[in-house]
Amino acid sequence: MMNKLIKNFLIVILIFIILGGIFAVSSSHFEDVRKVSFSTLISQINEDKVEKIIVEENNLKIFLKDGGKEKTIKESESSLTETLINYGVDKEKIKNLNIEIKGASGWQFWLSILIPSLLPFIFIILFFWLLTRQAQSGAMQAFTFTKSGARMISPQDKKNKTTFADVAGLKEAKEELKEVVDFLKNPKKFIQIGAKIPRGVLLMGPSGTGKTLLARAVAGEANVPFFHISASEFVEMFVGVGASRIRDLFKDAKKNAPSIVFIDEIDAVGRHRGAGLGGGHDEREQTLNQLLVEMDGFDNETGVIVIAATNRPDILDPALLRPGRFDRRIVLDEPDIKDREEILKIHTKNKPLAKDVNLREIAERTPGFSGADIYNLANESAILAARREKKEITQEELLESIEKVMLGPERKSRILSEREKKIAAYHEAGHALVTSSLPGSDIVRKISIISRGMAAGYTLKLPSEEKHFKSKKEFENELAISLGGYAAEKLIFNQITTGATNDLENATELARRMVTRFGMSSLGPLTFGKTEELIFLGKEIAQEKNYSEETASKIDKEISKFINQALKTAERVLKEKRNLLEKIANILIEKETIEKEEYEKIIKES
Ligand code: ADP
Ligand code: MG
Ligand code: ZN
Repeated sequence: MMNKLIKNFLIVILIFIILGGIFAVSSSHFEDVRKVSFSTLISQINEDKVEKIIVEENNLKIFLKDGGKEKTIKESESSLTETLINYGVDKEKIKNLNIEIKGASGWQFWLSILIPSLLPFIFIILFFWLLTRQAQSGAMQAFTFTKSGARMISPQDKKNKTTFADVAGLKEAKEELKEVVDFLKNPKKFIQIGAKIPRGVLLMGPSGTGKTLLARAVAGEANVPFFHISASEFVEMFVGVGASRIRDLFKDAKKNAPSIVFIDEIDAVGRHRGAGLGGGHDEREQTLNQLLVEMDGFDNETGVIVIAATNRPDILDPALLRPGRFDRRIVLDEPDIKDREEILKIHTKNKPLAKDVNLREIAERTPGFSGADIYNLANESAILAARREKKEITQEELLESIEKVMLGPERKSRILSEREKKIAAYHEAGHALVTSSLPGSDIVRKISIISRGMAAGYTLKLPSEEKHFKSKKEFENELAISLGGYAAEKLIFNQITTGATNDLENATELARRMVTRFGMSSLGPLTFGKTEELIFLGKEIAQEKNYSEETASKIDKEISKFINQALKTAERVLKEKRNLLEKIANILIEKETIEKEEYEKIIKES
């Protein structure tokens, strides 16, 4: 980019120099003639050597009788004859001189006046022309930036085209969006029969599930221009700028109708107004209001469909969800095992895979991964293979990348002291042993005390089957597993370290949900507090907690009951199998990691 700029700059300078040169040559075709002083001319006249003088302004071209040519200049105030008389030349001699007076010649005269004053302008115009020409090529070609600051992907842009074929899984969402594609492709069909064309579609789902991807796919399928802007860009702006950008954006979109306006992360401006979240941000409200005004201004034939995406539908302003605005809501779920395999296929399509690669196995080992995580995984495995000088990605690289994506890169440089290593080993062995001792819980896939990301060690589990519902028993097991590390530390060292903080947080959060969400405590089948799920149905919700202080203390009691029970379970298991716990911990201290097969062997042998 910079190089090109410099190159263009040099081109402009070159043109400048050439122009200057042409100008110089054209103005001085008497160049190669000897220049003499005025007094030389006087003496030559007195000696009768001069045949003819051509006067061009103050320039004198002298033709000598012997055929020679000379030039000189006179003073500008007076005429040549006057000057000669003043110099005391004989009047007779002046009469005999053949003096020819020429006005400054036409084009030369104008050129000499115009070029010096015009050159800077020519220079500037040329420079900007080159600049804009280059901005339109190269790196910026992917998007055209509109006045609103939105990026536009036009249907002619084949390289950036996304279609439903690029989106794996998400079957229901795609079904719903096919309707939108139909509207965009053939609005007349729907208008004629009196159907109302949807104005707004809200895509809701956790981050990385493919909301942005899906919105682009709709544009690609319908072959219409796609205007893409992220609402978070408005938040930092001066008051009023966001609103005016929204106005510009919709103006552009309408001009290019049928088209799609995609507002990503709409929660950034679409927060519940006056909800106390982030305070009453004026800019946000104005932007949001403008958006609502624009959408309300659509008639059935506008041909613009607004797609918005959020991973926080629970905090959206109810005004956004009213009929005629984002009244179509599509929930994107995290991919299940089959979807994960499909996504893997899509993202390894252009990568060379070795024969031993089994994508199904990778899908099995990545529960909870989003589409974006899987995209990362595929990419990491390619990087790993390249670093190992391999020509193909093997299963090994794919498996290793799972952990890298899940927990961050290994931090081998973080050295644990002997004692820390021992604590970490017992902690992880505790998690693992509780996991494999409770009936119906997950399978231990790997235990490690190599730090990764934030964690000092980790135990990877694998669900024995894909589950959509979970029972109270399973949650209780999960709580006990979470507390397994804590229980092991307490049992062996009779003290507790900060290493268990994260486990305790997770356990408490899960216990709270069991009480307030799932009706699994002795408080009965009730839910307490704000119900996030309800807003998915477009209903308004109570913002405050909807229960009394008395109930609150009952909830707290139930939560601690669950936690204490889980701790007892974990302690019981570990006390019973203390020998096994020590064996696992010692192997961990020695080898730092235990894989599934080895772990299963240790358990069987005991
Ligand atoms: P979101 O907008 O929901 O946060 P994105 O659409 O930005 O998620 O997804 C990020 C990336 O993850 C996509 O560019 C794509 O490569 C990958 N991805 C996510 N979901 C899918 C899917 N269902 N099929 C294929 N790729 C996906
Ligand atoms: Mg996104
Ligand atoms: Zn732990």
